[in-house]
Amino acid sequence: MTQFNYQSHFEECIEGVKREGRYRTFANLERIAGRFPKAMYRPDDGGEAREVTIWCSNDYLGMGQHPVVIKAAHEALDNSGAGAGGTRNISGTTRYHVELEDSLADLHHKEAALIFSSGYVANEGALGVMGKVLPECVIFSDELNHASMIHGMKDSKAEKKIFRHNDLEHLEELLKSVDAKRPKIIAFESVYSMEGDMAPIKEICDLAEKYNALTYLDEVHGVGLYGPRGGGVAEERGLLDRIDVIEGTFGKAYGCMGGFITGPSAIVDCVRSFASGFIFTTSLPPAVLAAARAAVEHLKVSDIERERMRRNVKLFKDMLEAADLPFMRGESHIVPLIVGEPNCCREVSTILMNEHNIYVQPINFPTVPKGTERLRLTATAAHSQEDVKHMANTLQHLWATHHALIKAVA
Ligand SMILES: *Cc1c(COP(=O)(O)O)cnc(C)c1O
Repeated sequence: MTQFNYQSHFEECIEGVKREGRYRTFANLERIAGRFPKAMYRPDDGGEAREVTIWCSNDYLGMGQHPVVIKAAHEALDNSGAGAGGTRNISGTTRYHVELEDSLADLHHKEAALIFSSGYVANEGALGVMGKVLPECVIFSDELNHASMIHGMKDSKAEKKIFRHNDLEHLEELLKSVDAKRPKIIAFESVYSMEGDMAPIKEICDLAEKYNALTYLDEVHGVGLYGPRGGGVAEERGLLDRIDVIEGTFGKAYGCMGGFITGPSAIVDCVRSFASGFIFTTSLPPAVLAAARAAVEHLKVSDIERERMRRNVKLFKDMLEAADLPFMRGESHIVPLIVGEPNCCREVSTILMNEHNIYVQPINFPTVPKGTERLRLTATAAHSQEDVKHMANTLQHLWATHHALIKAVA
């Protein structure tokens, strides 16, 4: 009898991924404080390191390198050392956790806030617990919700009903189909990161009210960026008090790392008490928390970064529009440019890197559906107007000269 060949099985799995053109290669970057969106790129083949301009970063406002953020991290590191020293429950709750949670509750005008290792863990933990503790709960989920929300809902074992993306009629049809007495949660995002569009938050809140459902809003791509204090899209639209639980991250516009939820004390306390991903892990270190708090507080009062990003995004979209390129015209700062085929998508990205020193990671299946492979472009506050013009002109040139290569299906 031949024995199972583990090695060849794993290798075949990877061969399959490669055949489908969705094998992932990471770009080795060195970010240099004060130089973002420029970074040093070290090619895999051992070629010489060279400076590139990043066009796919989530550090939308350049806060990862902001002097107030760096200073706060330094001070906390010098003051308290490297690690938190434990889980939240067992010696790992520090002054920095408490102060940041206060700052977040204030950001969203909520009773309480809770920090997690990442936005992923926050979604997984919060939805996992909410769906589990509510008896006979049904969760209504937008079909484009992030993987972390999907895993949280699955973990909760609650019944799940998926509504078509941003489709209010479909959502209402599903809400109507469920017994009025059963607890309900509507889970959705404010900004959909791969499409660049936004949810009809007010209308979803109206439906939640009509059918007595809780609202759970992922503002990961909204916090820091939208609203007069960076509270997110719900703040910008004056809807903070109509959302029960808001989830966010420090990993994107705040330029650091970690995730959080804000909401009523009773819900936050429940999540704190039951979420495995919150309980059984070492809490975030002081330097990260101090940096995150500095970014949150800075963006409560400073609009300069948001304005600069809006200016760059508008210039970029106007230039792509004038060049007639197939980008998705969402309301947000994210600009997805459709290529429509995984190998072409990778090839465009390679040409940009090798011939133009521009770094954009190709976005392929399973992150987006097959046939909609894309470049997800982000003009940040840190790009100069020259950077933006150069990028738009380069893309226009590429699309004009590589017609056969680029199968535009937008
Ligand atoms: C990135 C992302 C997350 C996860 O946040 P992290 O802090 O990076 O773990 C959650 N939701 C959405 C929509 C995201 O894009």
